[in-house]
Amino acid sequence: MYRIQQIKLPIDHKEEELLIKAAEALRIKKEEIKEISIFRKSIDARKKDEILFIYTLDVDTYKEVKISKRNNNISVAEPFIYDVQATGEKPLNNRPVVVGSGPAGLFCALLLAEKGYRPIILERGKTVKERVKDVEKFWKEGILNYSSNVQFGEGGAGTFSDGKLNTLIKDRSKRGKKVLEEFVEAGAPAEITYINKPHIGTDLLRNVLVNIRKKIISLGGTFRFEECLTDIIIKDNAVQRIVTESDIIETDILVLAIGHSARDTFEMLNNKLKLTAKPFAIGVRVEHPQKMICEAQYGEMAGNPLLGPADYKFVHKSKNGRSVYTFCMCPGGVVTASASEAGGVVTNGMSFHERDLENANAAVVVQINPEDFGGEENPMAGVEFQRYWER
Ligand SMILES: Cc1cc2nc3c(=O)[nH]c(=O)nc-3n(C[C@H](O)[C@H](O)[C@H](O)COP(=O)(O)OP(=O)(O)OC[C@H]3O[C@@H](n4cnc5c(N)ncnc54)[C@H](O)[C@@H]3O)c2cc1C
Repeated sequence: MYRIQQIKLPIDHKEEELLIKAAEALRIKKEEIKEISIFRKSIDARKKDEILFIYTLDVDTYKEVKISKRNNNISVAEPFIYDVQATGEKPLNNRPVVVGSGPAGLFCALLLAEKGYRPIILERGKTVKERVKDVEKFWKEGILNYSSNVQFGEGGAGTFSDGKLNTLIKDRSKRGKKVLEEFVEAGAPAEITYINKPHIGTDLLRNVLVNIRKKIISLGGTFRFEECLTDIIIKDNAVQRIVTESDIIETDILVLAIGHSARDTFEMLNNKLKLTAKPFAIGVRVEHPQKMICEAQYGEMAGNPLLGPADYKFVHKSKNGRSVYTFCMCPGGVVTASASEAGGVVTNGMSFHERDLENANAAVVVQINPEDFGGEENPMAGVEFQRYWER
């Protein structure tokens, strides 16, 4: 299999042209190509009058092809294999417990389940189906359910989101690819594996979550919804058992995938363990007509369905050394109230798969370091800092 980068085509090109370009690049006849698949697809809109799609293609040929060492755009593609080696020699005394069913908890549980560890997943919120009802009630009537809301419940904080799946880290370990492949297996569109900035949308994501849950259960995992971790019993520097609102569970492996909003759990942990405050970002959400963003990015091509709704990203380094940047931009989306605590305003953004609403929105944030809020002396000071601005 060969990987060819930098194949540029006009946005209205025919599918056949991918084959022609691949054959040209490999200097073979197109009949000698067995299979072709898109590895990456992005938009080059630097010249507004000549917007292009840029492809990286994986090409399987009937016979071996000689690749010139001077051609940096062609390489031999390694097959995708993601495997975490199980470590440890002694069988565990008890099943591992993963607290939280957000992206971190779900994928941790999936990998444990794939290796036969039969994890127990504790989630304080409800299943996605029940959670949607609570969140809609909050948005319509302003009645907040403290354990089933935009932050808490199956899928964690990202369930009511744009479902953006791009990351700025280099995917050397292939974890990102594993996540995307699992999403596709669970019902997400296949294009997320190759589009430069993939997104699922809150509507499709809900079904994907249910299918991932079913897969974990089929591999021996157990989900316990509406069950909040309230205490950890530690002896000789090791977890012995954990306490929930309704049970005591023996375990020696505990994974805390509790996200950034479980302030009561942070409080409990702070009384048990040595916590360290970390930097975070804080800011506002801005909203503007999607049409305006499309025109700015695509000029006269704005509105072309082949391009879809445009996005943007800004970074500004201010004179005092701090960076201000946009984050979580939601094309054709909506600004949502996202509180999990009473008395404050927390906003976020989400979009549906089609991203076809009138407005775009994005967070404009600035990085805050522990020294800004007294985090070096008190690890919980960041929570108070957040509360201050939320109220
Ligand atoms: C509205 C919104 C839109 C977003 N959009 C995007 C996006 O498009 N793309 C993107 O990459 N990121 C997005 N984010 C951010 C992303 O959702 C988070 O970075 C991500 O969810 C963090 O994953 P996590 O698993 O670490 O934690 P979380 O998703 O926060 O999950 C933690 C889970 O733990 C549970 N929990 C907490 N404490 C306990 C306890 N004591 N006992 C039992 N269960 C507990 C919670 O109920 C929750 O379900 C968005 C966030 C929000 C709120």
